[in-house]
Amino acid sequence: MGTITHDLQSSLSHFFGFDKFKGNQEEIIQSVLEGQDTFVIMPTGGGKSLCYQLPALMLEGTAIIISPLIALMKNQVDAIRGFSEGDEVAHFLNSSLSRTQAKKVKSDITEGKTKMLYIAPETLTKDENLDFFRQINVSLIAIDEAHCISEWGHDFRPEYRRIRDMIDIIGKDIPIVALTATATPKVQQDIVKNLGMAENNTFISSFNRDNLYYEVRPKGKKEQTFKQIVEIIKKQPGASGIIYVQARKTTEEIAKILNVNGIKAGAYHAGLDAKTRSKTQDDFLMEKTDVIVATIAFGMGIDKPDVRFVIHYNIPKSIENYYQETGRAGRDGLEGNCVTFYSPKDMLRLEKFLRDKPLAEREMGSLLMQEMIGYSETTACRRQFLLHYFGEQYDDSRCDNMCDNCRHPKEKIEMKDEMSLGLQIVEILKENFTAKHLVNFAQGNRTQEIEAFKHDRLDLFAQGKGKDATFWNTIFRNALIKII
Ligand code: ADP
Ligand code: MG
Ligand code: ZN
Repeated sequence: MGTITHDLQSSLSHFFGFDKFKGNQEEIIQSVLEGQDTFVIMPTGGGKSLCYQLPALMLEGTAIIISPLIALMKNQVDAIRGFSEGDEVAHFLNSSLSRTQAKKVKSDITEGKTKMLYIAPETLTKDENLDFFRQINVSLIAIDEAHCISEWGHDFRPEYRRIRDMIDIIGKDIPIVALTATATPKVQQDIVKNLGMAENNTFISSFNRDNLYYEVRPKGKKEQTFKQIVEIIKKQPGASGIIYVQARKTTEEIAKILNVNGIKAGAYHAGLDAKTRSKTQDDFLMEKTDVIVATIAFGMGIDKPDVRFVIHYNIPKSIENYYQETGRAGRDGLEGNCVTFYSPKDMLRLEKFLRDKPLAEREMGSLLMQEMIGYSETTACRRQFLLHYFGEQYDDSRCDNMCDNCRHPKEKIEMKDEMSLGLQIVEILKENFTAKHLVNFAQGNRTQEIEAFKHDRLDLFAQGKGKDATFWNTIFRNALIKII
């Protein structure tokens, strides 16, 4: 054991120039080197790639790495080549390559020069490629972004479900490493089941990112918000940052305003042509621009370690998205500032998008949004809320003022009476009723449902008359968090 540890350390510095492992990378790598199927759940920026890259460099043969996006592959390959002497060490194989290029990739592999091959699942399933992979020495198969396997995840890719069959064709006893930043148990079960990893070593890291400061601000008038954004950016001149917005035209609108204010900013959205998009992205990576104003189309696979702030001009549609997007800040371990502008109106707009979707999807989408509203409106520690969502217990005293609610606790006394009324109402009506029903009950509205259940005969009915529906919604949301 001692020598393995020593070898791993020196390999780490030899291949990557890093002096220590991050989180539980070392245990994970040991598991992979022992030839075990390994399941890695680690937040974005945690250092998942290294968990298969280092074993790939140490083992004989070529590692096949399955990755969902061409852009993502290219970044990874560039990064690996940056650490190595020759370009042959890592290649990707996908539809963007010419025949000649693909041939070169294959001959590099056959000649044993290539330690890592990145491919898309579509490429894997092609017969000619399968035949080729059967003949070569495959050291391991890594499935990056493994949540794409699950319909419960946020990036379902049907081709990911065929990976297991392909692996069986390629060869027996090749260790599998599945990696994802999705923490929900449902997705995890799907991955294990679909990849047939019955016996595996699972490594779950904490999702806490203690260098990120979380803040939610109420969103008022547009100009007011723009002004605040400029102020936030001007506090750290020249710092890299991302601003997420919902609508394409808003990306350009905000980028323009920033430019006028002397901030180097670019707009990015799916409606731009590929060339413009990749230039915008490169300019950001090369620090020709400091700020990118983008729709969610931007960011997957963006590995800029020194992103200092992520601003949400519009609320994301789920906590998962929020976590991924804010997670792009502070990858270097230094402070990242995450500011979200929250307006219930934005939620209504998101709900509109859901209207045309099939029922199941609509319900799912609405549940995810409720959680996001809960997060935005909570007066408790934001970090605790986030981690609780991912199934982690977290003592909020550890937050160390790294969220707005811990740094500036809201006046709690003021709400005490209403809160206790809210808790009592939830207590007697239990969780069987909708928030709307609870609000109507508190306000004393005799709706059909109230009358059907004879709730107007209860003592607490209409005890919260003086306050509006928004107020009671907030109270009940908080009351429910306390009870659960
Ligand atoms: P993930 O895939 O989990 O989101 P990455 O694999 O892209 O994360 O790694 C995030 C960043 O952390 C990269 O810049 C990577 O070079 C860096 N990194 C990974 N492992 C280490 C380490 N042991 N020491 C220092 N930096 C590391
Ligand atoms: Mg990754
Ligand atoms: Zn906190």
